Amino acid sequence: MVNLKENKHRTEHKQIESIPAPKRAYISLNQQLKKSFSPLVKAGDQVLKGQKIASIKEGIYSAIHSPISGKIFSIQDSPHQVLGKGKAIIIDNDFQEKSVATYLRTQKEIDSLDAQELRAIIRETGIVGLGGAGFPSYIKLTPPRPIHTLIINGAECEPYLTCDYRIMLEKTEEIILGIGLIARCLGAKDIYIGIEDNKPKAIEKFRSKGQGLKVKVLKSFYPQGGEKQIIKNITNNEVERGKLPFDSGVVVQNVGTALSIYEAVYLNKPLFERVMTVTGSCLVNPKNLKVCIGTPIKELIDFCGPLKENPAKIVIGGPMMGIAQNNVMTPVIKSTTGVILFNKKEAQTTDEEPCIRCAACVRECPVGLMPCMINLASIKQLWPQAKDFGALDCIECGLCSYVCPANRRLVQSIKMAKLEAIV
Ligand code: SF4
Ligand code: SF4
Repeated sequence: MVNLKENKHRTEHKQIESIPAPKRAYISLNQQLKKSFSPLVKAGDQVLKGQKIASIKEGIYSAIHSPISGKIFSIQDSPHQVLGKGKAIIIDNDFQEKSVATYLRTQKEIDSLDAQELRAIIRETGIVGLGGAGFPSYIKLTPPRPIHTLIINGAECEPYLTCDYRIMLEKTEEIILGIGLIARCLGAKDIYIGIEDNKPKAIEKFRSKGQGLKVKVLKSFYPQGGEKQIIKNITNNEVERGKLPFDSGVVVQNVGTALSIYEAVYLNKPLFERVMTVTGSCLVNPKNLKVCIGTPIKELIDFCGPLKENPAKIVIGGPMMGIAQNNVMTPVIKSTTGVILFNKKEAQTTDEEPCIRCAACVRECPVGLMPCMINLASIKQLWPQAKDFGALDCIECGLCSYVCPANRRLVQSIKMAKLEAIV
């Protein structure tokens, strides 16, 4: 656990703004890794805003909805923030804003929904975890054993990112309603929201409005927002290696997910847009933005410009867990939390050197892994060995790479091992 320079000052005081929908949206068919969605539309089809355009039917069900009305231009390879490239449904915006017929549910209707009906709405509206994982929420809300504790994650411990902080300030009531719906799905009686002590205004808002919600003030350090870390720090229970939070009767959900669940149930709104942070020293006007899924990051950068200087590195996500990009046409997917533009000095990279066996990565790993050993196994493509060293327990926090004096690309190699070991 380390104290990182927060660098949240550029956007933490900025209200969420909506960026106009893109002329052309690139809706990736890989919203969840290793799971490709099947398109439900073809080139030339007209689509409405909110229309379901792709789904996964095998295994874990999920759905993607169009963020705009318009015409399907094509379904073809496009840049992807994690995979490099992958199939996307490309939609030309007609700017007519024609939506699927919908209605707002009344409080009476909502009160009469049972847990199964709530989960069905969350499933059909394509809600996924918005903290970065992108895992379908209805699965987490259908645990195989009883859940006594729900923890809402408002830590946002990654430097630079402020989108969760802003929704906590600007959408407090909606998040609280969303939390109530999640608790109903789970039958959880103990409900906490964990917020780092560097966000006193958010703590105050939830303390004043969240009746029955226990507000836990967490110390600011990285990675406070990791699922197992926040469970330990709030309940003092440790989730064993190889186990999941529900094995301990706990479910963790991000504040952004709670907001999306509110919108799905109360407003009947699928997840086709999200709030994210666009920031970095290269931008004149860094912002917190409400963005349509499928918007190329170039449009976000232009909206926050002009540039003070050309970025030497563009990262999607936070600086610790994010992924460097080489194509500004890469579109936003449901799990995109931010875009950061680093200048030359900040982006300075050094060559990878041989491991000096200092064990710094082992000491810092918050889940007790040996990153150096997983790295070796991954380099040699020994996937079963990487799995034996606990690759699947890695929370991809990036701390091992951060502290390594030999600049080993540990987290990248561990991510690769995780992907290969899962298949
Ligand atoms: S191995 Fe994974 S969990 Fe451990 S420090 Fe590295 S990135 Fe974080
Ligand atoms: S921190 Fe780097 S140099 Fe030290 S043991 Fe880990 S991989 Fe090797």
